Order: sequence, then structure tokens, then C-alpha cells
Amino acid sequence: MAENLPIMMLGESEGVADFGGGAAIIGLDLDILGDPVHFRIGVAQRQARLADIVPLARTVSAKITDVVVEKIRSDGGRIPCCQSCSACCYYLVPLSVPEAFRLREEILARPQYQQRLMLRACLLAARRILSRKPPKSFVGQTKPGSLGSLAEPNVVASWYASLKLACPFHYKGVCTIYEQRPLACREHFVKGSARACRGRRGTAKVVEMPVRVVDVLGQLASELEGMKVEAVAIPLALPWCEENLERHERTWSAAMMVERFVEILKAMASKDSTVAVA
Ligand code: SF4
Ligand code: SF4
Repeated sequence: MAENLPIMMLGESEGVADFGGGAAIIGLDLDILGDPVHFRIGVAQRQARLADIVPLARTVSAKITDVVVEKIRSDGGRIPCCQSCSACCYYLVPLSVPEAFRLREEILARPQYQQRLMLRACLLAARRILSRKPPKSFVGQTKPGSLGSLAEPNVVASWYASLKLACPFHYKGVCTIYEQRPLACREHFVKGSARACRGRRGTAKVVEMPVRVVDVLGQLASELEGMKVEAVAIPLALPWCEENLERHERTWSAAMMVERFVEILKAMASKDSTVAVA
């Protein structure tokens, strides 16, 4: 997907000349489990939509999870997660609102035959979900597909697990959107054996991330839109986006959006003593 995004992660020596006049570099420094992590974010002097910050959020999330996983492994811990392991693709995966809009764009940028297959898989999953009387908190208080305020996440997760329904992007044991997969998938790791993931939900030892970037995006969208924090269930994300297209097109200053993203990330990270914020 060739893009001219107003928000981009920069390499150490990259400038913002390509972004046009008035572009800025915003720094983000974190100390993850004793490892300093530095990000340089290029921001154009123009408007951005919620979806435009998702590539940046994915890069930040990848760096944080890499450091955490590497630390656990270097301390002798075992993390069995890998691209070909997929028992967790039967869990309920929530998308933040910016991710839902971004995923829709990424699917629509694919060749038509892939779009058709993905839309069909989502439609079949949505039909199955809606025909099985989901708990009230799954349907949410806003639009179908929204998990609303996630007031009862455990109730919803247990009900969803009982459906034994694979993610609509899970095909022949492979994630068909691996490079664009949700932050909830990227930030989910377990310690020990993958067997625990295939058994009763809740027995796997989930690795607690020092900060979850999916929560940062959820909070950011909630503040910018002046709404409650929402999470969108992945099988229902495409119809949910269609119902909320006016929200997809809303824009804010890219610089303001990134500054607030950085502030929320730092605030969430500083709540955990394992992360120092510079
Ligand atoms: S969380 Fe469990 S099922 Fe998912 S990749 Fe890791 S080990 Fe495999
Ligand atoms: S998006 Fe990919 S990794 Fe995430 S649950 Fe679906 S198939 Fe699995």
C-alpha cells in the first residue's frame, strides 16, 4: 500500500524534508525493563485521520514486545509464540477504533479476489456470531460489532470461546493479514508451552506487557472523538466501519495527534514500575 502518510516513524538519520514545509520530529524515549528505547516520529504539518496513526503504533508496539520477549528468553524463560502457532486465533480479538478503520483500508487495497474472500469470511463469522445470541455487552451501546466499554470482557470472552469460531483472517493455519494484524494479536504472548493455549482458556501464562499500545490507541480515539473507549470485534469490524464512515473521515492536526499519543503512552507506561519514562 504506497502511501503518503502524515505520520511516519523515522530512522536515526532520516529527516523530514519529504514531508514538506513545517514538518516536525517528535521524540519518544522509554526505558523498557532497563533497556532504553528511542523513537523519532516525523509529523507533516497537515491533518490526519485516526487510521493514519496505526502504522506508527504498530512499530512502537513491535519494539516494546521485542524487548520484553528477548528479556524473558535471555533469563531462560520459554515463549513458544510464533507465526505458525494459532490456537489463540480462536479468541475474541478486539480492535481499537483507529485499527478498525485502518484494517478496512488495508483490505480494500488488496486485489479484488482477496477482498472478496475476506469479506465473505467476515460475513460468515458475523452471521454465526449474531445468530448465537451474544451477551448484551458484546453488542455494545453504540453500533453492532462494538464491544462498547468492555464492561464485562470475561463474560464476552467466555461466550465467544464457546462458539469455537476461528478469526475470519485465519486460513489453513495461517494469518492472512499477518503484517497488518491487530495490536491485540501482536501484544499477546504466553510463557511455557503452547499446549496451554489449546486447553481451557485462562490456563496459559500470559506475558504482561509494560504498556499495551492497543490501550493507548483506544484512549487516544476516545479523547479525540469525545466518546467512551470502544473496542471493535474483529469479525464484525468491516460492517462496523461501514456504519461509522463519517468517523473514519474526521481529521485532526497530525502534530496534536502524535503529541497526545506520546503523552498517553508515557502516562500508561509510568503506571508500571518496570517502565521508566524519559
Ligand atoms: S499465544 Fe499460544 S496459541 Fe498464540 S502464538 Fe502464542 S503459544 Fe501459540
Ligand atoms: S488477525 Fe491473524 S493473528 Fe490475529 S487472530 Fe486473526 S488470524 Fe490470528
